Amino acid sequence: MTLPPNVYDAEPIPASAREEIDRLLQSGDLFRYTAAENAPVTLLEAEFAAMLGSKYALAVSSCSAALFLSLKALDLPRDARVLLPGFTFAAVPSSVVHADLVPVLCEVGDNYRIDLVDFEARLDDNISAVIISHMRGHTSDMDAIMALCEARDIPVIEDAAHSLGTTWHGRNIGTIGKIGCFSFQSYKLINAGEGGIMVSDDANLIARAVIMSGAYEHNWKKHKAPEGDNTGELEAAFARWQNLLPLYNLRLSNLSAAIIRPQLAEVPRRVRDGRANHDYVADKLNASPWLQVPEKLAPEARAPDSIQFNLEGLDNTQILAFQDAANARGVKVQVFGQSTDNARAFWNWQFVPEKQELPKTRAMLMFACDVRLPARLKTEELDLIAGALTAAAEDVMGAAKAYGT
Ligand SMILES: *Cc1c(COP(=O)(O)O)cnc(C)c1O
Repeated sequence: MTLPPNVYDAEPIPASAREEIDRLLQSGDLFRYTAAENAPVTLLEAEFAAMLGSKYALAVSSCSAALFLSLKALDLPRDARVLLPGFTFAAVPSSVVHADLVPVLCEVGDNYRIDLVDFEARLDDNISAVIISHMRGHTSDMDAIMALCEARDIPVIEDAAHSLGTTWHGRNIGTIGKIGCFSFQSYKLINAGEGGIMVSDDANLIARAVIMSGAYEHNWKKHKAPEGDNTGELEAAFARWQNLLPLYNLRLSNLSAAIIRPQLAEVPRRVRDGRANHDYVADKLNASPWLQVPEKLAPEARAPDSIQFNLEGLDNTQILAFQDAANARGVKVQVFGQSTDNARAFWNWQFVPEKQELPKTRAMLMFACDVRLPARLKTEELDLIAGALTAAAEDVMGAAKAYGT
């Protein structure tokens, strides 16, 4: 039997990164603020902002750092309440706690998207800011979310850690809210091991974030407004905040930027292949009566590097048996809510001060499956993965059916 591929292997870093890394190692110039201008981190920020269509970008040590700085940039009072979806990674409510704010969770539906009725109800419960976490790249209804938040003048931060290359009505995810945050951790579309970046069109917010990220003294002078912007807005914002803000030192190293920059050109290919792979496997899974891949919302064009699907008509014992059967066939399936200490199950976020129960989200997490599907996979490998998953469902449910008759 041919075993399915290892989906945890990363793509090689483009060879062109080597020369730049060598140059940096030769010169020892690893700190972003040593060179007078054009440090790799500065160039990455300009290129990333241009790629997304944003005015400003700030590269930092992780997406979690970007989320934390975004919240600090909003200048909210201590213990202000921040609404976020109950289906996300533990780092997201953690960033809220780190910023001395209180996470409030809202329900997420069977299609992994925010339940808008619950979202609206909780939005009126003294909420000061919203983080929309596009978990596993799934985009919630951003039209409705922005309308609800704008009507109440509540700022929206997009956690686009896993959404680079996703669009909504043709617009890049991460540029719809006031600030968008992305990750360069190894399991994301661009892999630098660790790293993150935030984008915004708001000079005041970005100036605050730049200073707090560790642009001490006058290092902010190395952060420029985009070409052709002569408003002086950014410089005025830096002058306004000089010496008034704490320094958290969450900067990115030049070495990381040298690994990230050559991957920017790979984004369109990774998005195209990732989407084609996802849709190919989704069709095969949907042909099984027990596996169901939820539809995306119409305005979204997705950029997946994994696939999520729901187990339908399986009881809890059968769900665990399916997971074992898929494992035995060489495909590692994570059912979000079924493993011990899963960082994506809200009941494990015991550091959140206000305990909340989210029955819909909990139910979804008990039957929602997660399988990595990196863009580099070939059709034969996709066939092996899809075949193993549908056969695993047969192993469990085919037998269950036979017993029943
Ligand atoms: C990976 C991820 C994060 C955290 O990113 P880091 O760069 O590892 O801090 C946050 N949110 C989502 C949705 C993620 O997938």
